Amino acid sequence: MKTQILVIEDEAQIARVLKMELEYEGYQVVVEHDGKAGLEKALQTDMDLILLDVMLPGLSGIEVLRRLRKESATPVILLTARNTTFDKVAGLDQGANDYVTKPFEIEELLARIRACLRNQPNNGGKREVESLLTVKDLVINTDSREVIRDGKTITLTPKEYDFLVYLVTNKNKVVTRENIIMNVWGYDYEGETNVIDVFIRHLRKKVDEGFSSQLIATIRGIGFTIKEKTDEDYNKN
Ligand code: CA
Repeated sequence: MKTQILVIEDEAQIARVLKMELEYEGYQVVVEHDGKAGLEKALQTDMDLILLDVMLPGLSGIEVLRRLRKESATPVILLTARNTTFDKVAGLDQGANDYVTKPFEIEELLARIRACLRNQPNNGGKREVESLLTVKDLVINTDSREVIRDGKTITLTPKEYDFLVYLVTNKNKVVTRENIIMNVWGYDYEGETNVIDVFIRHLRKKVDEGFSSQLIATIRGIGFTIKEKTDEDYNKN
């Protein structure tokens, strides 16, 4: 059976070219032109891969992806506009497998499609989606427990890892010392809360030192935060 690709793209010209090129490569192609119809098709049919435009009428591509991922692990490659880091990060957060930036070379897209399909056991699209947590240039793969910043692997102790995951899961919010103690060390922790200061110091050394921006900010008297965008007025210890 031919590999089936669903293309969700509202720009007729791009959709037409994609369909033609993909069929030429031997794929079977279904095209939908808006988010709602695309999501329905994706959920009703057993696609091997989905090319999903981010800027769509009806439902945005990110919303389509978010709803799709509740029920399906079919690989998704996002088509994003240029310079929209937000879309890429949001897309990866929601479980996109890859993205290409418009305007793209068809050869690059075809290579990404092949790579994406290769990563699927049985080509059935039943693989669990890798769980990626991201903030700025930091990526945490919670399946493999790998932590990568700006392409460099960061080695953490298990507690440091839990601590960082907790901060990143709660990015853009301030977490208090009590939150951290309860969630990282557990309710029955009876040690000193200044253990956190020691951990933050170690973590910053590994995660922030030598990088262009500081991820972990101290909110004096309250706790800590990791923000997608850094405000200048946060005190940094
Ligand atoms: Ca579009």
